[in-house]
Amino acid sequence: MSSASESPDKATATNPLKHPNSRIAVLTSHFTATMSSEKDAALAAAAAPPPADSPTIFDKIINKEIPAKVVYEDDKVFAFRDIAPQAPTHILLIPKIKDGLTGLSQAEERHCEILGQLLYAAKLVAKQEGLEDGFRVVINDGPDGCQSVYHLHLHLLGGRQMNWPPG
Ligand code: AMP
Repeated sequence: MSSASESPDKATATNPLKHPNSRIAVLTSHFTATMSSEKDAALAAAAAPPPADSPTIFDKIINKEIPAKVVYEDDKVFAFRDIAPQAPTHILLIPKIKDGLTGLSQAEERHCEILGQLLYAAKLVAKQEGLEDGFRVVINDGPDGCQSVYHLHLHLLGGRQMNWPPG
């Protein structure tokens, strides 16, 4: 057992994760902080759910009220870089018109076309980004899915080896 007063060398000898400058320790603390802040954001969003079609931060991005790094746009789909990337390439694809699609769980038959267009746009953007070795598309839904913005969006992640199962 090591204590707080132990020297880094002694602590490292028993457990390398305890060395304050250990690369593993730095990475571990980074990923733990990232994971908990995303979960916190999702739980906070779930605790105060907005009315179905009230504007979200993504509406402000579409309307150019706040800046975003836009990578793709067509008449129905808008795509921009995630502000807190979880991979070298992390892009969000959203429908320009939400039409009640706060999340995938709210999808109805009339949404089939836009859902297909979002997936196809993800493929186009993956190609545009040079993700020839593969990529991942994620849709978080509701509190258990860690959704924090209630405007349906696809996460397009790539540029590194993904792991399975996801956290
Ligand atoms: P989710 O947790 O699935 O609802 O994903 C919401 C995503 O939106 C997160 O990955 C955030 O990092 C991202 N995000 C939030 N605000 C912005 C913003 N202003 N610009 C770009 N991405 C954002």
